[in-house]
Amino acid sequence: MNQLEARECPICGRRLTEPPSSRGRIADVAYYSCPHCGQYGLTRQAAVGLVRLDLSHDSQGRRAPAFAYAVRRMQMGQQEWPLVDRETAERIIDSAVLPSVKEQADNLIRWLGDNLFSPGETESVSDET
Ligand SMILES: [Zn+2]
Repeated sequence: MNQLEARECPICGRRLTEPPSSRGRIADVAYYSCPHCGQYGLTRQAAVGLVRLDLSHDSQGRRAPAFAYAVRRMQMGQQEWPLVDRETAERIIDSAVLPSVKEQADNLIRWLGDNLFSPGETESVSDET
């Protein structure tokens, strides 16, 4: 399937918030906006590698969340959507791990600081946030 025809995130399998898009002159890159993985670009070679790994259906269920977490970390503090090429995807697959409980707590506090305007405010959180 053409990358631009995808309706589901190639990392986590969730429905994309908007259709994939292409930008600039790089023909084999599609940019995805996923409610879980965020916004990122993926080369065709990297996408093929992800399909081969069957990230959304691994038996222990850790590959896709670890990959999504790594891609989310690549977006932190960046204006541009990160581009995941084949080499980056292989590096992530070889080294990505889910965050420790302490790191998850730190990330939650950081997220609350970024999303709440003043003390006492509330914010809804879903499993796709
Ligand atoms: Zn996703």
